[in-house]
Amino acid sequence: MWASYAVLTVFLAGYLASLIIRQGDENWTWFDGWAVCGAEILASVLCLGRAVFWPRRRFVALALGIATLSWSIGDVVLTIESLGNASPPSPSLADLFYLGFYPFAYIAILLFIADGTQKLPRSTWLDGAIAGLGAAAACAAFAFQAIVSSTGETIPATMANLAYPIGDVLLLGLVVGGFVALQGRRESAWMMLAAGMALNIVGDTSNLFQNSIGASQFGVILNAIAWPTAIVLMSLAMWVPKRPTGLLERESRGKSSWAFVLPNAAAVSALAVLLVGSLHSVSRVAIGLAAATLVAVGIRLALSVHDMQALSQERHRQSVTDELTGLHNRRYLFRVLEAFFAEAKHHDPEARSLAFLFVDLNRFKEINDSFGHPAGDALLKQLGVRLSGAIRESDLPVRLGGDEFAVLLTDADLDEAKVVAERLAASLEQPFVLDVVTATIGASIGIAMAPTDAIDPAGLVWCADVAMYRAKLSRVPVASYEQTLDLERDQMRLLEELHVAIDEDQLVLHYQPQLDLRNGEILSVEALIRWAHPRLGLLAPVKFLPAAEEAGLMPRITQWVFDEASCQCRDWRQSGRRVSISVNVSASTLLEPGFVSMVRDSLARHGVPGEALVVEITEARVISEIDAARTVIEELQGLGVVVSIDDFGAGVTSLAYLSNLSVGELKLDRSFIAGLVSGDRERDLDLVRSTIELGHALGLRIVAEGIEDAATLQLLARLGCDYGQGYCISKPKPAHELAFRYEMAA
Ligand code: C2E
Ligand code: MG
Ligand code: MG
Repeated sequence: MWASYAVLTVFLAGYLASLIIRQGDENWTWFDGWAVCGAEILASVLCLGRAVFWPRRRFVALALGIATLSWSIGDVVLTIESLGNASPPSPSLADLFYLGFYPFAYIAILLFIADGTQKLPRSTWLDGAIAGLGAAAACAAFAFQAIVSSTGETIPATMANLAYPIGDVLLLGLVVGGFVALQGRRESAWMMLAAGMALNIVGDTSNLFQNSIGASQFGVILNAIAWPTAIVLMSLAMWVPKRPTGLLERESRGKSSWAFVLPNAAAVSALAVLLVGSLHSVSRVAIGLAAATLVAVGIRLALSVHDMQALSQERHRQSVTDELTGLHNRRYLFRVLEAFFAEAKHHDPEARSLAFLFVDLNRFKEINDSFGHPAGDALLKQLGVRLSGAIRESDLPVRLGGDEFAVLLTDADLDEAKVVAERLAASLEQPFVLDVVTATIGASIGIAMAPTDAIDPAGLVWCADVAMYRAKLSRVPVASYEQTLDLERDQMRLLEELHVAIDEDQLVLHYQPQLDLRNGEILSVEALIRWAHPRLGLLAPVKFLPAAEEAGLMPRITQWVFDEASCQCRDWRQSGRRVSISVNVSASTLLEPGFVSMVRDSLARHGVPGEALVVEITEARVISEIDAARTVIEELQGLGVVVSIDDFGAGVTSLAYLSNLSVGELKLDRSFIAGLVSGDRERDLDLVRSTIELGHALGLRIVAEGIEDAATLQLLARLGCDYGQGYCISKPKPAHELAFRYEMAA
């Protein structure tokens, strides 16, 4: 195949050389006629062969092959008609075959373009139409007149001669349209096809001028060489393999400026036709075509303006929208805040108020870390919807980035803001059902008010951030900046007092029994810390542990708890009660270097075996730092200590990761147990039931927390839960007040 094209190329070069040498005077029928016809037919057959043997763009090659074959047959007919220096009739049979080229060539071009562009934009078609109409107008004005007058003896002759420029004009329009549509691609196949078509048009045009204006030496050569070269070129184009376009290339393919050159030139030529038409006589057809060109230009302009507007609107929308959640983004928020503060400066500053809610998700990182970013993204998407659902129409929800959101309440006072924030926090407490997991994350919300708390956007966000952080530390869903200040003061004071409290033995442990639901015995208790504060009374852990954690006091407190618990355990054991004690450990303490040796020393000091100790940890940090946690858990297990996952189900509800941690116990979170018997929490019942089953399958002991009534206790016993803990059995109490008895109803 390539050899055939090589022969054709050599032939064309030889033909061109012979044309130049001959000076156009002599006519060699065997060469100019038969050899050229043969070359054209060979090229056409190669093109058709391409359609047979290669499925890609098969129909383009087929249409093009028929087109060029039809042209070649036209040449054969003309050669026969010209035998013996006869002058062929006008119009001749050859014209029929020549003109047969056009429809198939159009089909080939359209198929080629359609293959390259899934859907052509309107503007592209218009550009093609403008170019085609403009060229047609120019042809009609300057060439048609000449053709009509030169060959105007018979109407069929005129029609045949007119058909060529019209066909070419359409062809030109399509090629221009194709260039515009496929631009940026620079595909060699298209370049060659278009070049072939263009050369064909050049051949026609030079022929046209020879017929109408008179032959010239150069015109004769151009005329003779253009057509066979065009056919070979188009045929060859079909064999050029398609280069795969890179993703980036496809993405960045825009309209290059030269794509506008052709339609612009056409528009200018249409204007020129109208201008000339106003000075000299120009055919009505030309005027009509020129006017049509300008109408198309007008439509194109209107379309461009419309597209530009739509584009700039879309750009603006994208620049102020968060892609994932569809909420507004930080940029938009700051714009609104700047506008608010600018207005407040110029008007009465007290006139308008604004509440800013800083929303930070509590356990989002765990979801992302343990279930991957797709799960995180799915959650954020749901969250966007939920956020919008929990606020008023006039409020503005925003995603600040990551797991931080904000809501802007215009003309709201602090009380209203608190109501909205509470409602929001409650709605975010509801579990999110994702493909892989059902997750309860919750949020901490900080409120700051403008202009009372801050006088610029950055200040306002900062205040709300501080309030949010306080909410997180104090384990409350919502805190306002103003409260924060009080809270801060209280916390500072409390923290100072806490240092003293540890030294002065103000900390106490209360114990809450765990009932063995299988035999009604109580042989395990959970140690829960309290602070017997001289001024404030008995403080619950939530009141001071967050501050202690922040101030780095946890290691000291934990050490104290372990010693105290071990001491109590030894006393009980010495009095003949084989009790085991559960001790709570915060995740940061668990991962602290030296934690395991501290536990070992404490047990050894009091002569308590490891089996008498259970260490309770919450899931949160364990998942996010699973490798570090795994090591510690294994070391604790080595001491005989059982590791328990506390508040299971409050965060990420998944047993999957537990299977490769050597934990021995699961404590079902109170939130599941609370509504178990009320009947309307079917889902909780299912969850508890399946968690017990799965936990047992993993060899875990299951403890239910927060059992407040006998019915729940019975239900849990029936579900196969191993231990129960809750006010119904006993509240946490000092060791000496503890009764190790509970009468289970039969
Ligand atoms: P936790 O380990 O989940 O402890 C159970 C909490 O539920 C205790 O609250 C207990 O008093 C409460 N509770 C038990 N039964 C019921 C019931 O039937 N109904 C209700 N409504 N509540 C019940 P507490 O003592 O306030 O402790 C809160 C949290 O503080 C504990 O949750 C634990 O995470 C932490 N904590 C307590 N002591 C220590 C400690 O010594 N060290 C560390 N790091 N954390 C501790
Ligand atoms: Mg606990
Ligand atoms: Mg718990």
